[in-house]
Amino acid sequence: MTIIIKVDSENPSIEKIRRAAEIIRKGGTVAFPTETVYGLGADALNPEAVRKIYEAKERPPTNPLIIHIAEKKEVYRLAEEIPEKAFELMDRFWPGPLTLVLRASEIVPKITTAGLETTAIRMPSHRVALALIRESSRPIAAPSANLAGRPSPTTAEHVIEDLYGRIDAILDGGPTPVGVESTVLDMTTEPPRILRPGGVPREDLEEVLGRVEVKQTYRRYKLRMEVILVEGEPKSVIRKVRELAGLYLSRGRRVGILTIDEHKPMYETYRTMHRCEVKSLGSRKDPAVIARNLFGLLREFEGMGVDLVLAEGFKVEGLGLTIMNRLRRASGLNIVKA
Ligand code: AMP
Ligand code: MG
Repeated sequence: MTIIIKVDSENPSIEKIRRAAEIIRKGGTVAFPTETVYGLGADALNPEAVRKIYEAKERPPTNPLIIHIAEKKEVYRLAEEIPEKAFELMDRFWPGPLTLVLRASEIVPKITTAGLETTAIRMPSHRVALALIRESSRPIAAPSANLAGRPSPTTAEHVIEDLYGRIDAILDGGPTPVGVESTVLDMTTEPPRILRPGGVPREDLEEVLGRVEVKQTYRRYKLRMEVILVEGEPKSVIRKVRELAGLYLSRGRRVGILTIDEHKPMYETYRTMHRCEVKSLGSRKDPAVIARNLFGLLREFEGMGVDLVLAEGFKVEGLGLTIMNRLRRASGLNIVKA
């Protein structure tokens, strides 16, 4: 049984937070909203509790968890040999969507770090997340609250889809405002390295750090549909997407087109066609909105029974790097150059 607790994300009721915190303190699992995506939380310092996260998600034991804290001073307990620049980053970006990989202290259980000498730490800015951490008076280990390999959940409904019956509780605080995961930055290397682009753009980190390396991986999402990513100049992308939509529709496929507000009218003829769905992520002028809508729209296409999504590519600058990282993962690097 999973209990669902609805909370006001702006002004969460303390009684509701305490119910969830009690579950964390007793070694249970609670999904909760952060500003990035929903996390599946458990007491980061309790190996038995952390094991339940891996089980519920069917997460491989080699994939470490992020520890969430509500006070900066907690990093002194959890990490060692913290470089000076890391403190500058904490001052500028915490609370917020930046995760720092640091040398782990010995109080961090091996299961939380997946056996690594390092640990990943972040202070979220979401009121519900902060209240839950404070009321549990424990650091909370929380990967995204999805089955391993699925796109991260940005609503409580997404969490229910993947994890209902597998976890103790869900704090439902509505949709998450950033909608993509945190930027994971390894501060144990020189220069520091982005292991996962996320809510804080590379350019913002470089203002503090100088040069930053990016080492991305593209593990493909488990989706019940195929995704083809079309990259190139806007005009050629539209032409290619239209061509591919026509081709696959004629082969009887159920096609989804993932576009932006500015391009949506170009697909009007397809939108009115049977077996074709056109959805916009938002305006090109607002990459934050595009990032916020991405995971939800992928799940919507799935829910509609679309079996092939044609997704338009973006420029890899600012949040565009993060958006393209997730689209490349969705496509399994099935990329067409227009
Ligand atoms: P999730 O919160 O589900 O997005 O997963 C946590 C992310 O943080 C994964 O991409 C992990 O590989 C990454 N991560 C956590 N701890 C470490 C670490 N010690 N070193 C490198 N990456 C880490
Ligand atoms: Mg995840």
